[in-house]
Formats: sequence, structure tokens, C-alpha cells
Amino acid sequence: MSDLFARQALLPDGWRQNVKITIAEDGTFAAITPDSPAPADAEWADCIVPPMPNLHSHAFQRAMSGLGEKRANPDDTFWTWRKLMYQLAHRITPEQMQAISAYLYAEMLCAGYTQVAEFHYLHNAHDGAAYAGKATLSLCLANAAEEAGIGLTLLPTLYTYGGFGGKPLQDAQKRFASTPELIADIVASTRAATHGSRLVSVGVGLHSLRAVSLEAVPDILRIAGSDTPVHIHIAEQMREVRDCVQATGQRPIEHLLAHAPVDERWCLVHATHLTEAETRALAKTGAIAGLCPITEANLGDGIFPLTDYVGHNGRFGLGSDSNILLSPWEELRILEYSQRLHHQKRCVSLPFGHLGSTGGWLYRESLKGGAQACGLSAWGLQTGARADLCVLDTDAFLLPELMGDDVLDAAIFSQTAPPVLHVMSAGQWRVRDRQHHNAPALRQAFRQAVRPLLSN
Ligand code: ZN
Repeated sequence: MSDLFARQALLPDGWRQNVKITIAEDGTFAAITPDSPAPADAEWADCIVPPMPNLHSHAFQRAMSGLGEKRANPDDTFWTWRKLMYQLAHRITPEQMQAISAYLYAEMLCAGYTQVAEFHYLHNAHDGAAYAGKATLSLCLANAAEEAGIGLTLLPTLYTYGGFGGKPLQDAQKRFASTPELIADIVASTRAATHGSRLVSVGVGLHSLRAVSLEAVPDILRIAGSDTPVHIHIAEQMREVRDCVQATGQRPIEHLLAHAPVDERWCLVHATHLTEAETRALAKTGAIAGLCPITEANLGDGIFPLTDYVGHNGRFGLGSDSNILLSPWEELRILEYSQRLHHQKRCVSLPFGHLGSTGGWLYRESLKGGAQACGLSAWGLQTGARADLCVLDTDAFLLPELMGDDVLDAAIFSQTAPPVLHVMSAGQWRVRDRQHHNAPALRQAFRQAVRPLLSN
């Protein structure tokens, strides 16, 4: 057992002061006690918050961050960016995958994420054949998470077709080719290999309505088992919406909700384009809308109708998706600012009639939604939850002695770098004084891994 003491901390029932935090040997919180006297031997922190779960990542895409920003076509879109991304996916080796992911996960920890859902559809060898160990690349991600010390919800993801109407896969998509049988194999071997891990758990993914048939959903749900997350990319691009209407007569969210038992286990990533009726229907399912504001802005996807959605009590969380930039704080800033620009109003993410801090409300809702989407039954500063926390660097704030939600508003709206000083996951310090404990070695391995990928 060891103790921490926080002048203020964000607990499930709100901000509390003089909080004693006791960490058990098994990496969970043994006790959280507000209004405590400071124990003599406890480490002292000014301000502690629960870290943000990151509900959507494609780790390998970190290796092209910043390289997709040259206009190479008169009409640059998501689809032209995707060609570049496919070139990377085509070349990466298992060793490179692990080294890139491990350093990325260390960067995520430094930014204030301690859990990541990895939407993993790159399964096969370069020639499109399955590896002898079918879970080879999945296990690289699990190893990377253990190396960095981040919680991982690994989502082996079904990817069968090259487009709506059962189009065959393009050559560039062959490494993604998968059947429910292959996914079952990967899920079973990854679960067996990570059994007993405090950090790694396994759910499932369906790539998108473009790439899977909904007839596979019962199989995929059976493979997942009860209570594990099910994620899908849903309506990222207008072209995807038009193609879906053409193929099925329905828009993507409308079609999914009509043909799959979407409930609280589900996370619909990039639910960007929805009608008023779809917004209401999605909110009613209790599923999470997986929002990735930085990537969605970078790829020119569109603006999610957050204000309407939360008006129907819709749940949401945050994902770093392409990993072009890692900061839950900046994700929230862009999310709120995109809504302000659209509505020409201020403080618009809160539900209508709800007054108070925008940053505080956004942070708490994203914590809840992210935990649900990552399949974490307990999250945050509460007894029994995995002992994950962020000590904020309140000295880095311009204004002194901020309290409560003012801290979160300052962290989101008035800081460029994530204001994260120390980070703990599963009871161990992974980041101290803004440095990941293994940063030099992981960074060196990352650079060595990306060098050959960047040639040509
Ligand atoms: Zn994605």
C-alpha cells in the first residue's frame, strides 16, 4: 500500500479537497478519502484528475503524422489521404508496428491518456496471407502497451470487402482481409496470451459498412462474448453516406440501427453525418458516439451535431484516431470550437438549459463515454478501479490558485501543451515530471523503425 495526498481531486461525485488516495499492491485504488488530514509519509500533489480513455486509435498511422499535408491533387480529400495511409500499411513489419506503437503509447501517457482502444484491422503478411501465428500483429500491439504501461482495449477488426455491395478488396487492402473465423482466432489467441494482464483486454471491431456485411454481426458478437466492446466506423464522409444510400436505400446510422442490436456495448466512431432522426435514434441506444475532433478536422470529415445529440442525452467519448497529434485537451478544444463556429455562439456543448463550466462538463462526459467504449466497468478515482491518475501541472497555468472546473477550463482553453506533470496507470508511475520513464529507449526504437518506412 502507498498513499498520495491531493489538495484537490476530481472524484465521481465532483471536486473534493484534501483527498487521501491509497493504492493497493494489485494496482487498484484501495481507498479514496476526501477531507483527510495529510498523512506524514504521503506524496503530495496539488491537483489530480482521472486520465482520459482514448476510444479510437490506429497506432501505425503515427508514422505518417505531418506527412499528409502537401496538396498532391487539385481536390485533396480523405480518399486521397487514404492512398498514402495504405502505402504505409502495406510496408510496415511486425517489429516496426511494435516499436511505433510502444512510443506512441508513451506519448499518449504523457498527454494524459492511460487507456486506448486500438481499432486494429491490419492482420496479414505483406502478400495478404495470414501469418503463421494469426495474431502476430495484434500481439505486437499488446506487447507495445505493456512496454509503455498503458491500458489497451484491443479490437481485432473484421474487414472483408473493398466497398459497398460486396466489392472485392483492392490489392492495397489485402493485409486487412479477414473473415469472422480469422477474427475468432485472433481474439482467442490474444486473450490467451494476455490472460492475467492488468492492462490488456480484447473486444472486437467491424471496420465499416463499406468493408463488412451486417450478416457477420451475429458471428462477431458471439466471438466478442457478453460485456465486451464492439466498435464500428460509421459515417465519416458524405461519399460514404451517398454510397450507403445507393447500396441499401438507407443512410449508414439508419441502416446499422435497423439491422444490428446496437446498445451500450457499441461505439460508433465518426458518427459525423446524421439527420435529426438518426441523432435522436443513436442517442436512445446508449451507445457511444466516438468523436475524433483533431483527425476529423485534419481529414475534412465534417462537424458532428454535438449540441443536438447531447440535447437527446447522447453519450460520447474521444479518440485520437490517426494520431496526428496527441492531446485530449486539444481534442476537447477543437470539439467545442467547431460547435461555436457552426452555431455562432459560445459555450455550446453543454445541454440546453444546463449552466456552468464547458470544460468541466466536456471532460466528465468524455471520461464516462470513453470508459464505457473501452469496456471499463470502473474508471476514475474510486475504490476498486484500476489506479490510474494524472497529476496536473498547475504551476504551468498562467493564473494562480485555480480551483475545481476552472482548472479544466484553463487546461482545455488556455494551454498549448497538455498540462500533465505525472501519470500513473495500474498503480505505477509511468510519467514523472512530463517524461515517460522509458522515453529514450522507446524513442530510439521508434526512429529506427520509421526510417526505412520514410525512405521514398
Ligand atoms: Zn478510425
